[in-house]
Amino acid sequence: MPTAAREFTAHDLVSRLESLSEFGATHPGVTRLVYDASWRAAHRWLRTEAETLGLAGTPDWAGNLFLHDPAFVADGSRAALLVGSHLDSVVRGGRYDGAYGAIAGLLIAAALRGASGTPVVGFVTAEEEDSRFHGGMMGGRSLLGGVSEDELDEVKDADGTSWREALAEARADGTAAAQTPDSSRPLVRPLRVLELHIEQGPVLEAERLALGIVTHIAGYRRWRARFDGDARHSGTTPMSHRRDALVCSAEVVLALESLAREHGEPAVGTAGRIAAGPGLFNVVPGDSDVWLELRHSDHAALDRLSRELEERVAAIANRRGLTVSMELVSSQAPQPLDSGLADRAESVARDLGVSSRRMVSGAAHDTMVTARAGIPSLLLFVPSRAGISHSPDEHTEPEALWTGFRVGLELCRRLQAEGGA
Ligand SMILES: [Zn+2]
Repeated sequence: MPTAAREFTAHDLVSRLESLSEFGATHPGVTRLVYDASWRAAHRWLRTEAETLGLAGTPDWAGNLFLHDPAFVADGSRAALLVGSHLDSVVRGGRYDGAYGAIAGLLIAAALRGASGTPVVGFVTAEEEDSRFHGGMMGGRSLLGGVSEDELDEVKDADGTSWREALAEARADGTAAAQTPDSSRPLVRPLRVLELHIEQGPVLEAERLALGIVTHIAGYRRWRARFDGDARHSGTTPMSHRRDALVCSAEVVLALESLAREHGEPAVGTAGRIAAGPGLFNVVPGDSDVWLELRHSDHAALDRLSRELEERVAAIANRRGLTVSMELVSSQAPQPLDSGLADRAESVARDLGVSSRRMVSGAAHDTMVTARAGIPSLLLFVPSRAGISHSPDEHTEPEALWTGFRVGLELCRRLQAEGGA
């Protein structure tokens, strides 16, 4: 007999987070990449934990896992409120990114199992971090049925192993189901999606707030700017006669920083890489390649910033007598999350006496994928110590984890009671 739906304590949450962090533990840190042995062991453990709590665990073809009341049939015919996050980590990542939302989803689904109203189903997506494959939110997309059969052969990891080959290992031990993408549909139709996550930035800690209610996930534009000047003898070329591509790039890096600062939050600008040739002490650099990124939560603002950056880069190159080409290599549109759910979360936080603020997420999350698909989605943050993440130093105090969980649970409880499946 399954145990009855129950109340949980902070210890229930934190002890399971510690257990999950042992799968892929690299001391320090966690490396749990989609379909690897640690990921598969964690997946099996999570399913067993669910069963211990009276839930059933059902994986889909991609290894996304649903944690639900055994009376709920996960065959695509039923709709539910989904609550969870991702199971994978980055290489030498921390113990909380993804894992917090995964365990919170498990316990919320167990706590609300069998109550009348909308079914509440916990979930973990197979992949979010882009650390083994670079398929882009493979878990979230596959969860919604947005992956083609061809993609399984096209997406490969650094060793040349295809998504299909890696998936075969997961299927062999039951951590992914045997259907193919074309023949499968989402096992659970998401009515709404809630994700609990650590902030990964320093804002909540700095403002001594317990909860971040995310209203938008920032979009980005990424360019490679290439500057061409003259490579000349460094000893014989007077300063007045130089067309130095590296110095030009340096000015561009500072212009990007100024642009983002002048615009103010939530605009951020980063030059992530710079290379100059020929790369010698005694030659003025004749060419340079710089990677530039801008992020903002508002579409029009991102457009304005992008135009302004392109103008400033052109003006700097022109004044210095260099030629420039700027290639837009990738972009992602800003994604608003559900404002109704944000309002609900805010009132739950107020009722529970939990301090909160609305904020933008500068990083992508699974809720970005579900929101883009038109499913009302919300992301809630708890503070991260010093804003550190994707690092073994990631840390959130147990009390802060528990506070976020209480808000998430109460929000799901209220949404469940309203019904609507
Ligand atoms: Zn994450």
